[in-house]
Amino acid sequence: MDKSLQPFHPDLPAVNTAVADGEGACHSTDQRLHAAAIASGKGEVLERYAADYPVGPHDQPQSMCPAFGSLRVGLRMRRTATVLSGSACCVYGLTFTSHFYGAKRSVGYVPFNSETLVTGKLFEDIRDAVFALADPVKYDTVVVTNLCVPTASGVPLQLLPREINGVRIIGIDVPGFGIPTHAEAKDVLAGAMLRYARNEAAAGPVPAPRSGVSERPTVTLLGEMFPADPVGIGMLLEPMGLAAGPVVPTREWRELYAALDCATVAAIHPFYTASVREFTSAGRSVVGSAPVGISGTRDWLAAIGQACNVPAEQVAQAQQRFVPLIQAALERNPIRGRITLSGYEGSELLVARLLVESGADVRYVGTACPRTPWSDTDREWLEARGVHVQFRASLQQDLAAMDEWKPQLAIGTTPVVQEAKQRAIPALYFTNLISARPLMGIAGAGSLAQVVNAAMANQSRFDTMRDFFEGVGQGDQAGIWSAKPVERPEFRANYRRLLDKKIKARKAEEMI
Ligand code: SF4
Repeated sequence: MDKSLQPFHPDLPAVNTAVADGEGACHSTDQRLHAAAIASGKGEVLERYAADYPVGPHDQPQSMCPAFGSLRVGLRMRRTATVLSGSACCVYGLTFTSHFYGAKRSVGYVPFNSETLVTGKLFEDIRDAVFALADPVKYDTVVVTNLCVPTASGVPLQLLPREINGVRIIGIDVPGFGIPTHAEAKDVLAGAMLRYARNEAAAGPVPAPRSGVSERPTVTLLGEMFPADPVGIGMLLEPMGLAAGPVVPTREWRELYAALDCATVAAIHPFYTASVREFTSAGRSVVGSAPVGISGTRDWLAAIGQACNVPAEQVAQAQQRFVPLIQAALERNPIRGRITLSGYEGSELLVARLLVESGADVRYVGTACPRTPWSDTDREWLEARGVHVQFRASLQQDLAAMDEWKPQLAIGTTPVVQEAKQRAIPALYFTNLISARPLMGIAGAGSLAQVVNAAMANQSRFDTMRDFFEGVGQGDQAGIWSAKPVERPEFRANYRRLLDKKIKARKAEEMI
């Protein structure tokens, strides 16, 4: 096993058994759904997902429903209609979450029951819905997504027409038992769209981007990022005679052609395997890492220069212009303190590099994403500085890192932050507070210091809160009680025993 994929803490199980046993998470590694999907003709697509999104050391990170990633990508695109096919409870959760995060679009839904599912009528219903939606005045594209149950049942979205009245139809399977994280589900849709656009471009002329064609060769930016970052990256590229191209996932269909028509691709987020495949098929090179901090920016400019055949003097000019400014910004905004960091965005290693160069004592970086060739540079840089990098990190590993390193600040996902606060450790939610800032170039240098230093300075407030709530009990006994709740460990032991028995019986059945 790859060293970086080993469990972070020796006492932790390598497998999240609760999930693997099908308990506690809807997107568990449900072997039965998986087997059903293969039997229904989805074997090829699941094989491709297994190669693109490798799992391990445990089967699934404890992330939200993966389909949220692709749903969000579709909802952010202009003139794109989105249709979900799945259980009503899944669709309810996904639409709720997408509107909670500010989607201003309707999400289409084709309901089913056991009869329409097993007789194939569901596919006919989806087809009718797509024909009804495909109005070229309103839409460029209709995206239909099979969730877990329709994927397992083999609903054949690949049989939908490729286009109706000039509206592109894209059908994708995004099952929780095939796609490990919502980050990778973004890649499923982005990759499918790039493939479609690549075939269109190969067949004949395609529209230029709304903002016009860049006069300079462009660098396509792979991965959703803070809106100021592409502007900052454009400034870095300008002395090398290059420009920042579109960000993929794009906000509009025609940007896909411009993204493919680039000099090189910067895999800022390193998990877009299917998208990289499309760029590679279009003859484009791909550069990993990103222009973060001093050494990150220097090395990234050199790698981009090499990929685009920029003369060495021009690369050196860009480095000499920007690197001292970045260094000065980092020195003006130092961070002192020990930090553990985890998240599921794909930018965790980049953030850790910035923190280290700001002076922070970073000991652990956990990411729900897999290790890929495009994160190697960042992983090696961090490991050379004694930082443990954990790909496909589980919640248990993130919490064990907190136990072991006793940080002054834990940056992480919601459950990590919740646990840290319970232990009176200042904590910041990665997605809302770290991802919502520039990271690249000059604007990125020092942008984290304010929020990170302010959070670490809050330690005394946490101590006061912990002291204030001292003695109100914990877990089942938390609160003010007239009679303290009585622990019933024998009941729990009994349930555990019955559940274990059931799991064993099921496994024995599966082996027959
Ligand atoms: S689609 Fe699958 S992973 Fe998503 S909520 Fe439904 S059961 Fe869970």
